[in-house]
Amino acid sequence: MAHKEIFWMTCDSIEQLRAEYGPFHTRAEAEVEAQKLGFGYLLRYEHVIDENDEIQEVRCIFIELPRSRPRARLATPQGQVRESKYHTRCATCGEMAVHDEPWRAEVWADIHEFERRRHRVRLFEKSQGAGLREIGDWRDRCR
Ligand SMILES: [Zn+2]
Repeated sequence: MAHKEIFWMTCDSIEQLRAEYGPFHTRAEAEVEAQKLGFGYLLRYEHVIDENDEIQEVRCIFIELPRSRPRARLATPQGQVRESKYHTRCATCGEMAVHDEPWRAEVWADIHEFERRRHRVRLFEKSQGAGLREIGDWRDRCR
């Protein structure tokens, strides 16, 4: 049966070069950590996973915390969050990472699949508007 996996991260901005911290199981934990770090945003990840432990769907939502200063918001106008980010997630154990460049994602996957035999890493591209999109057969293509 398909089930949903939800986890939270906190981050200092919604720009491409942001600091992220987490993951946390609950929004409350993430908010406490955000407060400690002075971060103004939460990231909510939602994975829909089928009976074979395959990710069917990934959703990623930015939530601006009410206490974040208006100045921080002005510094990150919507238009600046245009560039893609690459998310890797292991379909076998669930470990994941975010990368600025596709080759970094490939290096991460190489190391992960080398260290953990028979694990399979999947790649997602995140862009503004389109959200998170899986890039299928990417490992076959790169090799
Ligand atoms: Zn793994």
